Amino acid sequence: MSFEFIKKLPTPDEIRAEYPVPEKVRKIKAERDAEIKKVFTGESDKFLVVIGPCSADNEEAVCDYVCRLARVNEQVKDKLILVPRIYTNKPRTTGDGYKGMTSQPDPEGKTDFRAGLVAMRHMQIRAIEESGLTAADEMLYPENWGYVADILSYVAIGARSVEDQEHRMTASGFDVPAGMKNPTSGTLSVMLNSVYAAQQPHTFVYRGYEVKTNGNPLSHCVLRGSSNKHGQSLPNYHYEDLSLLLKLYEQREIINPAAIIDANHNNSGKQFKEQIRIVKEVLHSRNLNPDIKKLVKGVMIESYIEEGCQKIGEGIYGKSITDPCLGWDDTERLLLEIAEQA
Ligand code: PEP
Ligand code: MN
Repeated sequence: MSFEFIKKLPTPDEIRAEYPVPEKVRKIKAERDAEIKKVFTGESDKFLVVIGPCSADNEEAVCDYVCRLARVNEQVKDKLILVPRIYTNKPRTTGDGYKGMTSQPDPEGKTDFRAGLVAMRHMQIRAIEESGLTAADEMLYPENWGYVADILSYVAIGARSVEDQEHRMTASGFDVPAGMKNPTSGTLSVMLNSVYAAQQPHTFVYRGYEVKTNGNPLSHCVLRGSSNKHGQSLPNYHYEDLSLLLKLYEQREIINPAAIIDANHNNSGKQFKEQIRIVKEVLHSRNLNPDIKKLVKGVMIESYIEEGCQKIGEGIYGKSITDPCLGWDDTERLLLEIAEQA
């Protein structure tokens, strides 16, 4: 057998008992969840901005960043809901590279899931306590949902996971919105099948149990662009793409049709500065067509303190060690502009 069982990890119940969510955080999350839910059910016309670094690699820099967001939030909260990206699980295209704080609490250190789970909860809870903002993360490992179910307000199923049955069925049990990304190939039916699957109840095998879910009415699409057979990036944020998605939604039995537009990844071709123009184009498209306005509930932006990205080990504070991000000044300016145009 080629598996070596290194160590037994704490169960979600054990880790929640060890690092419980303070009452104040529980209240913040309940209020935020209710507010975010209304965006997806159409009861609120606030615009969602899921924003933050590609990967949350360092507690100090992440909490500093999230507190900056909280200060901007005071100016924009009547129009926008800011959801920090605190991504602690990173999918890797080839399997190589940094896989996020939950795997590697120290990006320069070894894989250690026990320490990673603790570091991840510590950072997520501290960020909420200091900023009042609950975050988004990617659910890379479906069976890890229990470790964050009491913390997160938004969950993405990534482009490399969205066709997977286990991810879809697990998302059907989340009590927060699940953003199903288009796959890297860009096939929209895979994304829509995923949204549909997550909205249905399922019975399946989960963490050694047979479990039953109710279906998640808040599952929705996230457009992130695609890559063609030559490896070129093909965007899917233009007016025509949004109109097409609207039409595809109409052909399906999916409730709460919604889309979030991810401005980075294959939409920007990782030309991170393009995110500014892309977000503005999306806002313009929304303002041209009330149906598109209703469909597009928000954007996702990769942003950190320092712009661009660095290699692991360079040690620049607040600079991404995965995808390149907008820097803070551009971020602040863009958020104020989004609040004006959304
Ligand atoms: C990300 O959000 O950093 C990410 C990896 O997204 P995707 O799954 O769209 O590639
Ligand atoms: Mn990224």
